[in-house]
Amino acid sequence: MYYDPVEAMDRVALEQLQAERLRETIEIARRSPFYAERLKGLNPDEIRTPADVVKLPFTTKDDLRNQYPHGLLARPLDDFVRLHASSGTTGTPVAIFYTQKDLDTWADLMARSMYCCGCRRSDVLQNTSGYGLFTGGLGIHYGSERLGMLTIPAGAGNTKRQIKMILDHQVTVLHIIPSFALYFAQKVREAGYDPEDMPWRIALIGAEPHTEQARAKIEELMHIKAYNSYGLSEMNGPGVAFECVHQKGMHLWEDAYIAEIINPETGEHVAEGEVGELVMTTLKREGMPIIRYRTRDLTRFIPGKCECGRTHRRIDRITGRADDMMILKGVNIYPMQIEQCLMAMPEVGQNYLIELIREGVSDQMRVKVEIKDEYFVEDMRALQGLQKRIAKNLCSEILVTPRVELCQSESIPKAEGKAVRVVDLRGKE
Ligand code: AMP
Ligand code: ZN
Repeated sequence: MYYDPVEAMDRVALEQLQAERLRETIEIARRSPFYAERLKGLNPDEIRTPADVVKLPFTTKDDLRNQYPHGLLARPLDDFVRLHASSGTTGTPVAIFYTQKDLDTWADLMARSMYCCGCRRSDVLQNTSGYGLFTGGLGIHYGSERLGMLTIPAGAGNTKRQIKMILDHQVTVLHIIPSFALYFAQKVREAGYDPEDMPWRIALIGAEPHTEQARAKIEELMHIKAYNSYGLSEMNGPGVAFECVHQKGMHLWEDAYIAEIINPETGEHVAEGEVGELVMTTLKREGMPIIRYRTRDLTRFIPGKCECGRTHRRIDRITGRADDMMILKGVNIYPMQIEQCLMAMPEVGQNYLIELIREGVSDQMRVKVEIKDEYFVEDMRALQGLQKRIAKNLCSEILVTPRVELCQSESIPKAEGKAVRVVDLRGKE
């Protein structure tokens, strides 16, 4: 029923295991120049339960950048066999190093994650992630092989070839990012196939924020079951938290990580079930442990037990990033609020783009929205009506009225990897 019995471990035993591994992690981390300094004076005897993690300092992305490339390595460089980098687009990169044992741990977590949403060794998985520094390529790949699935490293792009591979090899599981999935569904139709006739049954979607509405659209258009998956390079990559077949939040693997949710302003834990910033500590990494990492991702723990019987707590889908938040006319706005609102409208196509612009002295938001072909009519009045309706719906959600621009389908450029949802043009137009 489970890939690993630890998934349904009794909570008391699980927390004991976490405390033990946390103490080990501290000991290992201290062998790195960065944590030798950061954890100076800490007495490991003070760490008795996983809750004692709050006695440790936070680690931020800036710390990782400042320590680039080797400051967090707890072993000699010779012991490492792999390096990945986070997809952050600005400034110094962040590099993550893995020993062979770390790669094995990661592959196990990935295999467990995929099993959890129904993948089995008889499945055939096609991975449409780019195979580069991005962890979605090799991370998914090794996990899929670990589970025993026939694994096709298709890589990104070239939809025609992707479709042929899917049909030739009867692919049943697709790893695909949500923004690509919607585009892909359309390409499949254009190529003359009905998604209902495709061999696939499971889509593993993740890597970028998306709403429940976007998932519903993917499931409907692709005729597939889509499972949300969360991960970040700093915590290995994918396989940190994954949905089970019940699709009610993602089980976060607590034997491998300690997760906390804090108020990003104060650093204090939020009340159970409230949204805040996810903070994570590795418990099973020997090469480059990371303690209390500020992910900047906003989510909450879902209270209660899951019907699947797994005891590891679930996190809700990521609603945005603590640093993604836009403040317009004094109102906090997250791109996902906008997506949710747009995707709920039947006229709206697949893609949209939020632009922040300056008009005179005030900041404005312009939302470009692709409209489905059948609604893109020549009747000006109908189009203006639609434009107004979109603006009104958005206003009731985000409390400011954005400029809305209707676009033809496929006219908004698609990013190669993760979708770019917000562009700041202030002072640049
Ligand atoms: P990277 O380390 O470059 O792969 O990027 C990791 C980041 O991608 C995370 O910190 C999140 O912001 C985002 N991310 C990954 N998975 C998801 C997901 N399922 N939903 C929303 N955002 C995600
Ligand atoms: Zn479950």
